[in-house]
Amino acid sequence: MERRPLVAANLKMNDLPEGALEEDSPFRERGNADVIAIPTFLDIDKCIGKYIITGAQYGGRFDVAEGAYTGDISMQMLYDRRVRYVLCGHSERRELHNESNDNVIEQAVAVLKHNMHPIICVGENSEQRKTGKEKDVVSEQLAGFPFNSVSYTVAYEPIWAIGEKALRAATPEEAEEMHAYIRSLLDEEHRAVTRILYGGSVKPNDEAGKMIRQPNIDGFLVGGCSLQLDKFKGILDIVNEATGE
Ligand code: PEP
Repeated sequence: MERRPLVAANLKMNDLPEGALEEDSPFRERGNADVIAIPTFLDIDKCIGKYIITGAQYGGRFDVAEGAYTGDISMQMLYDRRVRYVLCGHSERRELHNESNDNVIEQAVAVLKHNMHPIICVGENSEQRKTGKEKDVVSEQLAGFPFNSVSYTVAYEPIWAIGEKALRAATPEEAEEMHAYIRSLLDEEHRAVTRILYGGSVKPNDEAGKMIRQPNIDGFLVGGCSLQLDKFKGILDIVNEATGE
């Protein structure tokens, strides 16, 4: 595989699970995949202190390092604390914080400007899939992103497959079709090297094994199972096994 897999734990608004910082934590695993933890802002320093590669769930899109932005946190602050990845446009932020496509792209550009790595989340809702609009939705979400930027990751997370309200997980075929489409949108220089993650009810099961063997699926963004370290470890085992073949 040309691209080293990436498995990211999106801990959302949850404390670190017990054992997350211990020597044998899967967040500290160095196998065939890059592993990153994306905790709340309160736990970022703790993770970095244990040499866990750490991301933030959000960063301010405004081009300022500090100032009168109540509740916000600047990209400069994240960078100074050695955060290296920032999730941009998770569907929960798009929905609950009204982040528009433009806001998300501005945010991703701000991440790049501060020499960090954006993970841009895209994905359609169930209605949009039912009516065959999923590719239009995703290409609109990515419109305006400078695909020729140094390095970035895209996470395809169909909203209907995410979290407790998930109707079902995407099938490997559905995910692969969208991933191949997303890859076709990238510029030529980045097409072969950019990682595209799948997120949505990923569990340590056969489906995850089938997913990671798809040519355009380069890893996972994991929500629920990142709070259960045995399950997160199970997902890593599946990725390690598939990439060790
Ligand atoms: C997510 O919300 O990023 C996610 C992938 O959640 P889950 O794995 O719980 O579906």
